[in-house]
Amino acid sequence: MLFGAAAGAFLPRIGHRLTVPFGSPARAECGRCGRPFPAGVSGWIHTGPACCTDGHLPPVTLALVAGLLAAVLGPVPQLPVHLLAAIPGLLLAMIDLGCLRLPDRLVGVLALAGGIPLALLAPDRIVPALTAGLLVGTAYLAIALLPGRGLGLGDVKLGAALAFLLGFAGWPAVAVGLGTAHLLNGAIATWLLVTRRARPIPFGPALLLGACLGLTAV
Ligand SMILES: [Zn+2]
Repeated sequence: MLFGAAAGAFLPRIGHRLTVPFGSPARAECGRCGRPFPAGVSGWIHTGPACCTDGHLPPVTLALVAGLLAAVLGPVPQLPVHLLAAIPGLLLAMIDLGCLRLPDRLVGVLALAGGIPLALLAPDRIVPALTAGLLVGTAYLAIALLPGRGLGLGDVKLGAALAFLLGFAGWPAVAVGLGTAHLLNGAIATWLLVTRRARPIPFGPALLLGACLGLTAV
């Protein structure tokens, strides 16, 4: 939990700077008050709020996720891998909530930072993990290509990456992870429909929360 709180303290600034429309460069100044961030690394490495915004949610969320993972999984060699993967995971959730985007490079970081050590720890799980990623990626791509289904290509890539990572934990983890994501998303969509507040729903946060539950509930 301490790890989560400490690592999460760095996320508000990075998340805020990356919450930009497709094709735009990272923010050079605060999106709210317009104050410019320092150039170079010091403009990115910063604890606490991004600027004039609230900065408590990411550290608290990451602390809870880290605590849940550590409590359920115990001191297994895979634990540090999952804890580290939670960092790009939470960043993706923040950015998707902010601007409905899942930057490719961050999804790539998540897949590789999680996938390579997991593959080294359990080489016999590589084939099922790749199969899970490929199956989910293909299925999601088919859904995304249907008109009006609201699944973006970012969701397809993140879904495939998470299915790949969950595949190392086994098929039940994949099923619980993705099932939870769709249940969550369905519940939110129904709620918005009932309250007549139709608007696009980011799927990334549901996928990431589902993956977290898939890892711990199975
Ligand atoms: Zn500001």
